[in-house]
Amino acid sequence: MLVIMKNDATENQVQAVIQQIEALGFRGVPIPGALRTAVCIVGNQGYVDDSQLLSLDGVKEALRVTKPYKLVSRETHPQQSIFTIGGVTIGGKTPVVMAGPCAIENEEQALTIARLVKKEGAQIYRGGAYKPRTSPYSFQGLGEDGLKILARVREATGMLIVTEATDFDNIELVEQYADIIQIGARNMQNYALLKRAGHTNKPILLKRGLAATIEELLMSAEYIMSEGNNRVILCERGIRTFADTTRNTLDISAIPSIREVSHLPVIIDPSHAAGRREYVIPLSRAAIAVGADGLIVEVHNDPPHSISDGKQSLYPEQFATLMKEIKGMSPKS
Ligand code: PEP
Ligand code: MN
Repeated sequence: MLVIMKNDATENQVQAVIQQIEALGFRGVPIPGALRTAVCIVGNQGYVDDSQLLSLDGVKEALRVTKPYKLVSRETHPQQSIFTIGGVTIGGKTPVVMAGPCAIENEEQALTIARLVKKEGAQIYRGGAYKPRTSPYSFQGLGEDGLKILARVREATGMLIVTEATDFDNIELVEQYADIIQIGARNMQNYALLKRAGHTNKPILLKRGLAATIEELLMSAEYIMSEGNNRVILCERGIRTFADTTRNTLDISAIPSIREVSHLPVIIDPSHAAGRREYVIPLSRAAIAVGADGLIVEVHNDPPHSISDGKQSLYPEQFATLMKEIKGMSPKS
């Protein structure tokens, strides 16, 4: 349920509503808007008796939220969420581009790729220091040494850094280095990690699980938001289907589907969706055409020798082409 305050409601009146919600055994999360504040009731399993709330000063009305996710829902927050992180806006008119290697391999590789993608207009640098790999024998990432390299990339290029926290134990370290913390597809339903991500002051890039529905993705975002972190960026990165010409199937309809029910920005990862660099540019065009708030793309200076995901990593020239092609496309409606 959403308690809508009157336009001229005072802070004390909002606090009184929150106290009353707590007295009922739930939690009240204030959502300030351009014109008025709403207080979202979370923690209830069903019907909430709103009679006492409606009698409080400053309360205009109480609305039922029909979705199982509350803070993520557009019913609760009708305006699109726009986050400005270190001068980069996500969720606004211009799509944001995050680019870089799958994994940080060494400082020279990381810096070379960073300079290349920055020159073409990428604003955010991606690169894993902790890698969730299918095989325990594959390269697992450089760990903290990789994070230190990422910090040097930021220092040298001014780009923001997005990198993955793969478990509850490394998120504390990752949050010290990253500008945006990625939670990967395999961890989309790692609830302990999601709750911990709700306690950081860094924005979270939450990737859709390999076999997760949109509602499950949004419920995972709700875990993060319900712990107090409102800055969640969603990412469609392809799902498992019977199609066998790509690594995963890019669910392009995830963009309008999410847009309809949630205010959170949503970006597309064409690299992990396709699994092949040949498809990354067309899928990126499709993503921008359908209104994505941005892309996260794997780029490598020497893809055949990349330690991970070389087949889906763009060559620098291909990344330059991608940037030119999407630049000419009309912005989101
Ligand atoms: C990644 O972005 O490096 C990654 C591992 O992606 P995903 O979690 O989508 O597989
Ligand atoms: Mn990868």
